[in-house]
Amino acid sequence: MAITKVWIEDGCIVCNACETACPEVFHVTEDTCHIRAEVREDGSEDTNLEAKGALKSDTGGGLEDQIIEAAEGCPVEVIKFEKG
Ligand code: SF4
Repeated sequence: MAITKVWIEDGCIVCNACETACPEVFHVTEDTCHIRAEVREDGSEDTNLEAKGALKSDTGGGLEDQIIEAAEGCPVEVIKFEKG
């Protein structure tokens, strides 16, 4: 199963680990981490916490290992994802 959605809960400490693990999906800003617009169906760039917008279908499968690696590597466990 591919990852269909990824979002950032409150509490990001802007450590940059996720962007290092998967720069195609994660963009760390001054105060939190965003899910990049390029990989989202809705074309928005934010935490995706409210919208929980879907990843483009060609993203979740191809980058699945890196998204999981990023989620597991997040020191405060705020990277959440759904599989479909
Ligand atoms: S790994 Fe976690 S805490 Fe670090 S920047 Fe990414 S979301 Fe934030």
